[in-house]
Amino acid sequence: MLLSCRKATELIEKRQICGLSRMERWKLSVHLRLCRYCRNYEIQSEQIDAFLKKENEKNVKLKFESKEK
Ligand SMILES: [Zn+2]
Repeated sequence: MLLSCRKATELIEKRQICGLSRMERWKLSVHLRLCRYCRNYEIQSEQIDAFLKKENEKNVKLKFESKEK
């Protein structure tokens, strides 16, 4: 029943790309409650994701601004 760390990190990645089924979310949340390693992984991947989104917005803005001139 318990997820391996490998599987849990796969689910964390998958959640960011296409979301998880209810069962997958439940399994992941049980694992995260027990496993500090995967909780850290989750935090890091959310930070990376937020960073990439911000970078992307910056690039779009740059493109827009360079068109203005
Ligand atoms: Zn784990």
